Parts: sequence; structure tokens; C-alpha cells
Amino acid sequence: MRRLLATLVVLTMVAAFVFAGGEQEGGGTRFVTIGTGGVTGVYYPTGGAISRMVNAKSDEYNIRASVESTAGSVYNINSVLNGDLDFGIAQSDRQYQASNGLAEWEATGAQEDLRSVFSIHPESITLIAAAETGAESIADLAGLRVNIGNPGSGQLQNSIDALEAVGIDVENDIQAEQVKAVEAPGLLQDGRLDAFFYTVGHPNGNILEATSGRIPVKILDITGPGIDDLLSRLPYYAPASIPAALYPQSANTADARTFGVKATLVTAASVPEDVVYAITKEVFENFEDFKSLHPAYQVLTPESMLQGLSAPLHDGAIRYYEEAGMIGMINPELLP
Ligand code: GLU
Repeated sequence: MRRLLATLVVLTMVAAFVFAGGEQEGGGTRFVTIGTGGVTGVYYPTGGAISRMVNAKSDEYNIRASVESTAGSVYNINSVLNGDLDFGIAQSDRQYQASNGLAEWEATGAQEDLRSVFSIHPESITLIAAAETGAESIADLAGLRVNIGNPGSGQLQNSIDALEAVGIDVENDIQAEQVKAVEAPGLLQDGRLDAFFYTVGHPNGNILEATSGRIPVKILDITGPGIDDLLSRLPYYAPASIPAALYPQSANTADARTFGVKATLVTAASVPEDVVYAITKEVFENFEDFKSLHPAYQVLTPESMLQGLSAPLHDGAIRYYEEAGMIGMINPELLP
């Protein structure tokens, strides 16, 4: 009887060991998930582009990457930290805030386990309004119905920062909505919103949809002395412009002037080194191929993909950058 029990215990342990490897099922394949954003943004196809690079070598790495559409940057950072996602795409300003315990992370403090991998395309704080509102810039939003961004998105804090910088009180001076970016173009075209903010790379399907409908729509300037002051105070914001030519049906006659951040890839310290190494290596070794996967990547260079990071680099990424002789391009503060 004792022997039978002992055998059962051993068998149970073996089974537990085999099945606990949930992520290792299917002949040792490791499944990794990349959190992105709404399907009409740039994060979603970016997750697809990164997955494609590593999945092309699934025989070598035994990794199968897939993409999840999510609420955006803040959701992705939190999900990477609590283990629900292996990787997430997140704005550089949000990476900075999470690493330093600011904004959404003020109460929980500096997120020590957050790791950066590389940065990707530039994103602009984009403000879209129905032309009939007569609004030319952010300062004209008072009294309007404005989508400031859904909870969990990157844009929510950016729109609040921008509005406050020009003296518009979010609670009292506008009718603030917090819907997902994917819904905003439809609401604007239906006359149920006057304007919306979206922090996003260009061109993208969302702004294309917003500017190609029945009612004329304009990309507004986010400028003024208050914005200049904001940019001088916050290290993670930089001036940017949105070429009117990217949205030929918009009511713009000139490029919109605004400010921006960068999209970055983040992970957690606990994600295995070989997985992060494989993703980093495949994106950089197939750089030209990667760059061709989205027009928002046109400006990318290997150097630019190492800038705009603030969380320490993951060991797997460091291993690749060392091997590729790129370590000298990296801010030493990101290294151990
Ligand atoms: N920047 C947005 C966010 O953090 C997402 C933009 C996109 O999906 O391209 O929520």
C-alpha cells in the first residue's frame, strides 16, 4: 500500500511538472504574448511585425509569439509586471513614469521589475476635431465634447497634460469622454463627439478613418506658450509634427504641430533571457524587412531604436546588443 502511495505521489509530481510547463506544451514550444493597442492603431500591427520576425525562426527558437489587442500602454505595462503578458508596447513617457513611480504608479512606487527591450516608431499627441467646430488649436476646445482617452491607454495622461498646459480644466471646461480610440472616428463622424485625442504613430488607420468620412475633419495644433513650458519641464516630451499629406482628405492645409513620444517594447525581469534575446536579435538582424512592415517605421534606424528608453534593459536584449557590437550606442544608465 505504501509503495502504491509513493508511486502515486511520484506520478502526480511528474504530471504536475509536465503540465505546469503550460507555456512549454507542444514539443517544447514556448508561447509568448505581446500586448498592443486598438486594432486601428500602430501598436497592433507592430506586435504583428515583431511576432512575424521571431515566428519565422520557430524551428530554431521554439517560440510562438502572438498578439493581443489591449487598452494600451498603461494596461500593457501593468500586465507585463503581473505576468499576464510577456511583452507589451508602451509609450516612452509611460515607461519613464512606471520606472520612476510617477502618474499611475505614484501610489505603487517605482516598478523595479520593468525592463526595456528597444524603442520603435515616434508617436504624436494627435488632436482631431470636426471642422464645423471652427477649432484651430487645442486652446479652442472649451465647451466641446472631447474624447481624452480610455483608462489604460497612453493618451489619457497626455491629453490631460496638454489641456492643463493651455489652461483648460478637464472636469469643468470640456465634456470629457473616455472611450477607446477605435470607437472615436465613428463617434466623431456620427456627430456624437466634437474632438478626440490619440497618441499614435503616423500614418494609421484610425486617423485615416476619422478624416475620410462624411463630415470634414481637421488635425489641430497643440501649441502655445503653455505647451512650450510643458516641453521644457518634462524630459519625455519633444516637439513633433503630423504631415497633412498623410491624410489627404483632412481639412488641413498645413502640417499640424504638436509634441510626441516614442513607442517602446517592454517586458519583465522574470521573462527568460533566451526569449528576449531571440526577439531582439530577429528584429535587428532583419531590420530592413522589419522597417518595410509599416510606413510609421520609415524613420527608424538601429540607433534610434536604442533611444527613448528609461527602464533598465533586459538581460536578453543586452546579450544581443553585446554580441552585435551595439552596446556603445546605449545609455550606460540602462545597463547593470
Ligand atoms: N499610444 C497608444 C497607447 O499607449 C496606442 C497607440 C497605438 O495603438 O498605436 O494607448
